[in-house]
Amino acid sequence: MVTYNEVFSSRLNKYLTAQKANEMFIGKSEFGKVIPKELLSNNEFHCASNCELQLTCINIGIDFTDETNHANRIAPYFSNRSKQQNHSNHCRRVIDRTEKRKHEKKQTAYYTQEGNTFIMSFEKGKGFPPNKEATQSFESNNSNVKNVSLKNKDTKANLTSKKRVPHISSIKRLIDFFEEYQMNDPSISLLDKTHSPITFEDIFIPIGGQLIDNIYSIYYGDAIVKWVNFNGQKVLRLSFIHSTVINANDTSYQPYTLLFESDFRNNKKNYALQGTCEICE
Ligand SMILES: [Zn+2]
Repeated sequence: MVTYNEVFSSRLNKYLTAQKANEMFIGKSEFGKVIPKELLSNNEFHCASNCELQLTCINIGIDFTDETNHANRIAPYFSNRSKQQNHSNHCRRVIDRTEKRKHEKKQTAYYTQEGNTFIMSFEKGKGFPPNKEATQSFESNNSNVKNVSLKNKDTKANLTSKKRVPHISSIKRLIDFFEEYQMNDPSISLLDKTHSPITFEDIFIPIGGQLIDNIYSIYYGDAIVKWVNFNGQKVLRLSFIHSTVINANDTSYQPYTLLFESDFRNNKKNYALQGTCEICE
């Protein structure tokens, strides 16, 4: 999920961080001092002064000067909750980050970044190269990414362990790019490992009843979360709402994954859940 630290309030005519917005909403500074409640609602935030994309401040209204809340809740952040809207053309934020990215170079197991061009280890018709060990850890850690290859043997020799970015964070970055692309940010160009142009739709496959090729791609969709008992342990079971078929001889089923509380606590920031989740007790 893409988050935004600072957004534009059209009524106040200024940019606000999520923390500042929350303080102005509850009328209390981070040090507990009473301040004017200048924000009365959560629906006046836009991506940028020239962008209509409406954003919501998640966890607004929570008093983080209360230590209990501080320990148990994630600090406020802005996100596009509706998923129905797009960046306006010429959005300042999109232009700025495209410019900033021009100078970046990075190599991960999934891609080599050269500015705004990403050369993926993905190949059309084959997907990402498979890696059993990494796929397994991914299934237990992340919900909407299934059957993703995590290591590219061809490039492995070229990567030093220092340079390699952790798997989950590089996948999360790809998911963020995909979400932004869906919201009218066309700034990233993708090439496959043979340097042929590909699109995000080649890599990201929606789960929605159709037959899924048994290739290593990133599958996504809306999911439901429920508490279940697993070997005497209370765990979250996250299942896709739509069923799918992995190969033509299979019956249709809803892919799911189990999320362990300890994993959540240890990797709180690494989760990249996308879509509508409904927590049911
Ligand atoms: Zn925007």
